[in-house]
Order: sequence, then structure tokens, then C-alpha cells
Amino acid sequence: MAGLENYDFQNLSNAAEKIVLGELARQLDQCKQDVCRCNDCVVDMAAMALNMVKPLYRCSLLGELYTAEAKNDTAYLKSIEEAVGLAIDRVCSNPGHA
Ligand SMILES: [Zn+2]
Repeated sequence: MAGLENYDFQNLSNAAEKIVLGELARQLDQCKQDVCRCNDCVVDMAAMALNMVKPLYRCSLLGELYTAEAKNDTAYLKSIEEAVGLAIDRVCSNPGHA
């Protein structure tokens, strides 16, 4: 079977990433509890939160529209807020660092 090596997937990206990272930054900034902010833990939090929310894959600049639309979708934003909160809690009790 032919592979897809002749295609360019560079523009394929998940617009949810941007929103999740923004929310993660906001919550870490406000977080009063002792949360480990080492690279391993924070990347782990982002991955965990991203696995919980609906992805917003896009393949072109049109994706910016998705992002703008999602930013007005309160139910979606709420789900991201919850996912990020949960991810922070989970990494706190089970740190991503060695
Ligand atoms: Zn850590």
C-alpha cells in the first residue's frame, strides 16, 4: 500500500492546543497550591488536558476561524477549563517528572 510521504501535513494542527495552553497558563498563574512547574509536569498536564477535550483539527489558515469560533463557545471553553483543572490535579498527585 502506498504511503503518504508525498503529502505535506505541516499545516495539519489541532487548534485546541492553543486554547488549552492559554488556559493552562492562566490556571497555573492563579493556582495557590504547590504545583510542580518543571517541564515534564507541565507538558504532561497539557497532554492530559488535550486528551480530554474535543480536538479542533484544521488543515489551513481557516483554522484561525475555528479558534475564534471556539473562543465564543462557552460550553467548549468550560470543558477546557475543567480538563485543565483535572490535569493539574492528576499531575500533582502523580508527577510527570522522574
Ligand atoms: Zn515536575
